[in-house]
Amino acid sequence: MNKKDLISFKKILIQKRTELLNKSNNNTHRGMNVDLDIDDVGDEIDTASQNSEKEMYFELVSNDKITLNAVNDALDKIEKKGIYGKCEYCENIIPFERLKAIPWTKYCIKCQEEIENLKK
Ligand SMILES: [Zn+2]
Repeated sequence: MNKKDLISFKKILIQKRTELLNKSNNNTHRGMNVDLDIDDVGDEIDTASQNSEKEMYFELVSNDKITLNAVNDALDKIEKKGIYGKCEYCENIIPFERLKAIPWTKYCIKCQEEIENLKK
């Protein structure tokens, strides 16, 4: 990958990181309340609708964390290791179009599918 492409991916990744960090800052207060509620769950059992709302919220937060980690990893690869754009699994080069769609992806499409199949 040439330098110009690397720099443009870096910009996108930094933008995404800022976006995710802003989001998590806005949610910090609510996130803490969710933790407290979970501790109290033995004493007070909420209605089913409230519980599913919390679960949905948790899911969103953990997905954001996963994305944020992946974004940080990708930036690290650009900065230090110079291996950005390589699949971590098969070490082949990830197609440019895929990187454009998901710049923080760690795997090529084939490996991503394989990993997702393993999880099932
Ligand atoms: Zn691969």
